Amino acid sequence: MDRVEDLGSTAAVGTPDEIARLWVPHRMVYVKDHHQPDHRDCPFCEAPSKTDEDALIVARGESAYVILNLFPYNTGHMLVCPYRHIGGYDEATPAEVAEIGALTQRAMRVAREVMGCDGFNLGMNQGEIAGAGIAAHLHQHIVPRWASDANFFPIIAKTKALPQLLGEVREKLATAWADPPDPAAAPDQP
Ligand SMILES: [Zn+2]
Repeated sequence: MDRVEDLGSTAAVGTPDEIARLWVPHRMVYVKDHHQPDHRDCPFCEAPSKTDEDALIVARGESAYVILNLFPYNTGHMLVCPYRHIGGYDEATPAEVAEIGALTQRAMRVAREVMGCDGFNLGMNQGEIAGAGIAAHLHQHIVPRWASDANFFPIIAKTKALPQLLGEVREKLATAWADPPDPAAAPDQP
């Protein structure tokens, strides 16, 4: 059942400022008290032990998995994490590096198909000084971008509770992941 939240009907609709006010306060949970988790209280170690629905996991690989960011910069913001509790990209094994790359590629294709995004920001913040919320556990950001960043999903976010929205986004991405777009049908093919 839909829940309707009043997130401020007088706010400017669809501006970057609007998105920032919607999403950014939640991110502070990650950086509270400058606490860096060890593997026993690390959300990225704990997530795979839950169901995909509860943990907002989009897909699971052999050595890494894809999860929706609970505190997204933008709608559809995914993280690719190795299962191992390592902080540095240079600590990842060749197999982990390869799978993180492959999962990132597939996440891009799925997000483009499901959400019609125009571009992406990809990246890893290495260390707290570089902006990593959970520096102790490596995670690659995949942030979908739209020409205006004023797309369909943030508009829904104005009228639905955040957990419900994230659950719906996860469902759409996970469904498309199971039935991936055909690379031969990509628009850049002659
Ligand atoms: Zn961890």
